[in-house]
Amino acid sequence: MDCIFCKIVAGQIPSDVLYTDDKVVAFRDISPMAPVHLLIIPQHHIASLTDLTEAQMSLVGHMAYVANQLAKQQGISEKGYRVVINCGRQGGQVVQHLHMHLLGGRELSGMLG
Ligand code: 5GP
Ligand code: ZN
Repeated sequence: MDCIFCKIVAGQIPSDVLYTDDKVVAFRDISPMAPVHLLIIPQHHIASLTDLTEAQMSLVGHMAYVANQLAKQQGISEKGYRVVINCGRQGGQVVQHLHMHLLGGRELSGMLG
């Protein structure tokens, strides 16, 4: 499958990985929109939140908890941060592999900042 994030999970494309476990991988976004901009993705390919099945729903909770932990590790937890999942074309999803953005380290104004 020609999925850039699956290639990152497989180590076929280099990335700055900060965290990995049996379910997810977290790495730095290649074009960061904030001083801290990480992506948390499932190891297993799921194209979008739209494709999440009932059996997979705990995965998103796991991703959110990893975001919580990484926010602490990155020192943005106290001041605050944003977690975003873009979904589908109008939602601004460009990479078709489910991912959670973790953004922080600056004032994020408005809906998207
Ligand atoms: P989306 O718009 O799909 O929610 O966000 C995709 C994100 O993936 C973008 O912020 C983009 O900068 C990031 N991205 C795309 N390709 C790569 C890559 O090869 N490596 C890394 N680290 N990030 C990527
Ligand atoms: Zn994939």
